[in-house]
Amino acid sequence: TAGHATGGYTTTAAAAAHFVLVPMMAQGHAIPMTDMARLLAEHGAQVSLVVTPVNAARMAGFAAGVEEAGLPVQLVEIPFPAAEFGLPDGCENVDMLPSKDLFSNFLEACGALREPLAARLRQRRPPVSCIISDMIHWWAGDIATELGVPWLTDIIYRHNLLENLTDDEIVKVSGFPTPLELPKARCPGTLCVPGLEQIRQKIYDQEMRSDGTIMNSFQELEALYIESFERAIGKKIWAIGPMCLCHRDSNAMAARGNKASMDDAKCLQWLDSKKPGSVIFVSFGSLSSTEPQQLVELGLGLEASNKPFIWVIKAGKKFPEVEEWLADGFEERVKDRGMIIRGWAPQMMILWHQAIGGFMTHCGWNSTLEGISAGVPMITWPHFAEQFVNEKLVVDHLKIGVEVGVKGVTQWGTEQKEVKVTRTAVETAVSMLMNEGEVAQEIRMRAKDFGMMARRALEEGGSSYNNIKLLIQELGNKQNTSV
Ligand code: UDP
Repeated sequence: TAGHATGGYTTTAAAAAHFVLVPMMAQGHAIPMTDMARLLAEHGAQVSLVVTPVNAARMAGFAAGVEEAGLPVQLVEIPFPAAEFGLPDGCENVDMLPSKDLFSNFLEACGALREPLAARLRQRRPPVSCIISDMIHWWAGDIATELGVPWLTDIIYRHNLLENLTDDEIVKVSGFPTPLELPKARCPGTLCVPGLEQIRQKIYDQEMRSDGTIMNSFQELEALYIESFERAIGKKIWAIGPMCLCHRDSNAMAARGNKASMDDAKCLQWLDSKKPGSVIFVSFGSLSSTEPQQLVELGLGLEASNKPFIWVIKAGKKFPEVEEWLADGFEERVKDRGMIIRGWAPQMMILWHQAIGGFMTHCGWNSTLEGISAGVPMITWPHFAEQFVNEKLVVDHLKIGVEVGVKGVTQWGTEQKEVKVTRTAVETAVSMLMNEGEVAQEIRMRAKDFGMMARRALEEGGSSYNNIKLLIQELGNKQNTSV
């Protein structure tokens, strides 16, 4: 077989590599795993993606895409014991939980996948060569040990820095190349969900046994952070992102994640009718639900900004008062320049359209990276978890966005009565980002540059491209290095 550019690696060796991916069933975790499956398969590895029936149905677009491209990706479907753990029937994804109090039940039900999954993997051919699991599935490490194969994780939580501090106390995070200071409440480890505390220690302990970590990022974006993180955990990190860039045309982008709640063609037609760089896209991910008062305030700010916008509202159905408010004049007033998407938006397809000039985001890591990859500057509106740190990266470090100025944390699944961002703050941030002034131009140029760097990282010879090759060579084929 012909040797590959990376040295000992051969195409035959790649074909023997068999990666098993075990995602956390929440869209912000499962979607990048589908991207990872595609990337590994495009580089020649076999991939088994572990799913449950409801999640498999949601991934129909992904499954059709890999089949059409002839990529060696298979879904391994394992029944999910929802009822056994007190969950409603078919409740197989975090975004389907009726309340966050059921999160611990959800985690227990996930843990029950361990035995059936181990049984399936023992039988799988070609034999499994590496397991990559979301860190929340700490038990996947035991399956890897049993099978005698390497285990990589793809997310890490640490929070012992935060013990004994009050919410407003400033945490100085050491070990970073530039100083990072945040009030405790805005630190990633403060994500408060029942069940997470109980398994946090297990996650840390198991993480020490893992063979390394996959990072959905790229060297040129944050080389110093990747290096210091690698030093801190004492494990190899493979930065192989932005993984979303495995989608290269608008059809593939539209099929990513859930089925969109609106017609893609209509959305594109609307975008085509707008001037390049003129539209602001507003979306807060798959989990954050914004309270009615805050939604109204946001809408009024968008109206006052006078810019065209696409606004994704997740909670429209849950809050009839918001629907009433939209119908009571708002939609009519903005009908020439505003599009509202209720439910799931084809986010990547939208972000890549030339009409988009700004992205108002909750700073979930996927959304942040998608904005960066598309070269779109951002308005940051973090809600919880690691989103405040991502805001710092975007605004202070990369300088490719402006803050909307949120006044506090909006915890997932917790009712919030007060308005955290006023309509004036929304209007100010939109006009700061979307004007023709020097500062806004500079931000736009920097965002474009990072978009180009992101694309280059995954092109042949780019940093992430090479890391994927190395990952397959080093961990996919331990038993095949002599091929
Ligand atoms: N997403 C989407 N349409 C939506 C909402 C979310 O395509 O209407 C995708 C988005 O592109 C991203 C993921 O869902 O890939 C959300 O992940 P992120 O880390 O940004 O936020 P989370 O949902 O985990 O808070």
